[in-house]
Amino acid sequence: MTSSVLVVGGGLVGTSTAYFAAREGLNVTLLEQKHIAYGASGRNPGFVWLHCRNPGWALNISLKGRALYDQLKEDLPVPFEFRAEGGLIYFHDERQAPIFKEFVEARQADGLDMTLLDGKEVREKVGPIREDVVGASFCANDAQINTPTVVNALAAGARAEGADLREGVTVTRLIVSGERIIGVETNEGNFFADKVVIASGAWTEKLMRASGYEVPIGRERLQVMATKPLPAQIKPVVYGPLAAKTYTLFRNLPSWDGSLFHSKIEEETGLELLTLAAQRANGEILLGCPMDYPAEVDLFPSLEGLGAIATDIMNDFPGLRKVGIDRVWAGVLPFTSDMVPVIDEIAPGLIMAAGHVFGNSAGPMSGKLISQLLTGREPEVDMTEVRWDRQLDPVVPGLSVQW
Ligand SMILES: Cc1cc2nc3c(=O)[nH]c(=O)nc-3n(C[C@H](O)[C@H](O)[C@H](O)COP(=O)(O)OP(=O)(O)OC[C@H]3O[C@@H](n4cnc5c(N)ncnc54)[C@H](O)[C@@H]3O)c2cc1C
Repeated sequence: MTSSVLVVGGGLVGTSTAYFAAREGLNVTLLEQKHIAYGASGRNPGFVWLHCRNPGWALNISLKGRALYDQLKEDLPVPFEFRAEGGLIYFHDERQAPIFKEFVEARQADGLDMTLLDGKEVREKVGPIREDVVGASFCANDAQINTPTVVNALAAGARAEGADLREGVTVTRLIVSGERIIGVETNEGNFFADKVVIASGAWTEKLMRASGYEVPIGRERLQVMATKPLPAQIKPVVYGPLAAKTYTLFRNLPSWDGSLFHSKIEEETGLELLTLAAQRANGEILLGCPMDYPAEVDLFPSLEGLGAIATDIMNDFPGLRKVGIDRVWAGVLPFTSDMVPVIDEIAPGLIMAAGHVFGNSAGPMSGKLISQLLTGREPEVDMTEVRWDRQLDPVVPGLSVQW
């Protein structure tokens, strides 16, 4: 019987695990190396993106996760920012139109609330976009969160339920007794509990290797710019056409033509571009994102990456050419070769909850499912796809992946 839990990592997955486990009456301690929301969860632009989630576990948990936000708004002791204005992927080449049409039809068949917008409809939703935009796939299920506000609200909820959240505590190794994991070593001494939950995101591979586990969780760095606060002008979360090739769902379409989804900037820099724009409630517009695959967690934006965002955004959003930039940053997203996390008890006493690519839709729900595992209940979502004993390919730094 589990009565005490150590959670390693203060991102969406760790704080939601702490919150739901504490609500179940478990004695929870969360250990975060820096501060709550230091990792990917505090650095991402907040797309709750159902648009391109693969059928199966990814789509199931994302639909449940999207709905969970309504509940969290009621239950958490402090507010967080959530907007339900949908999401779109625009395109500005007529030759891309049949691909987007086929994509929308396929997603409707998967049960999503999707439509194909024309150029005028896109311009109504996205003020500063280029005049010649041809259309967009639009998904009404998509939403937007201001991620640090969500993580901090979950942390406040966990504390209110009695969890002890400690910042500035770095876990260095697992403590093993016989076959069982019984605690962790840290820079602040040893901690012991009935179960340890590893929710350390992109740091997981390194942390687990120190304890003799090979965990194939890769690192994808994305860079972001934030403008100064501006008048409201972008309603949904917005991706550009280059994003399409990142998704297996697009690339597997019979009409897919990869030659229509490349840019000169990508050729020149070797970076992949996930063109995106999203406006927060305070008016700042988040812009991104070049992507690369560092060997270690690297949280510094590069001049080349920032230059790529600037050039790309000026092409597609001429209305933003002159706006002031307030901040730039990078974050590192964890991933596995099949793009769903590992959520499983991988050894007695040790639960792995890492490898979330789409943590905004899945993260809080993962925490709920982990609390169900911790209390010995059947998780409310079938977890077969996220088991540890499935075949996962090694991750190779530098090599790009498809979501
Ligand atoms: C720029 C960017 C854009 C993204 N865009 C989106 C998006 O639009 N939609 C979406 O759904 N997802 C997006 N993602 C992915 C999303 O951010 C992740 O899926 C999610 O944040 C993963 O949450 P996590 O809790 O697993 O990891 P993290 O948020 O990274 O949390 C892990 C925590 O563990 C801590 N930690 C690590 N090692 C140790 C240790 N040894 N001891 C103690 N603490 C430790 C870290 O400091 C960190 O705070 C994006 C990611 C990035 C970087």
